[in-house]
Amino acid sequence: MSNIERTLSIIKPDAVERNLEDDIKKIFIDNGFKISKLKKVKLEKSEAEKFYKVHETKPFYNDLCLYLSSGPIVVMIIEKDNAVLDNRELMGATNPKEAKDGTLRKKFGISIDKNSVHGSDSIENAKIEIDFFFKD
Ligand code: UDP
Ligand code: MG
Repeated sequence: MSNIERTLSIIKPDAVERNLEDDIKKIFIDNGFKISKLKKVKLEKSEAEKFYKVHETKPFYNDLCLYLSSGPIVVMIIEKDNAVLDNRELMGATNPKEAKDGTLRKKFGISIDKNSVHGSDSIENAKIEIDFFFKD
């Protein structure tokens, strides 16, 4: 049965800065994702704070928001069957040191904060995050 989902993927500043956009897009396509919308933006810190509000009580929140707003990011709606979970699997663990071989974070991540990609963690959050960037 077909279960096409949409999820939000972000190529974070560390990866955009290293010109990894095309490599990462190719990996999504090779893994069966369609990139249905894409834009490159630079967030204000206040916008990053809104995006990551779920983490506002965490000790890393301020640095995380400074980081996400530190340079251009590439924001994409990607879709396929079971896109939310399949993207999380393709991304790998939050800490690149713990990410499995073949995952984006294992390949490209530098550290737990500079881990190259973001992906929505549930269907509900995917909808919220897609709206955050692509609501017309
Ligand atoms: N993060 C961090 N330090 C930590 C945990 C997380 O800098 O100890 C950053 C990291 O960039 C991560 C983001 O905060 O991607 C959001 O954390 P989350 O737990 O939601 O991880 P993710 O869903 O991105 O795997
Ligand atoms: Mg998360």
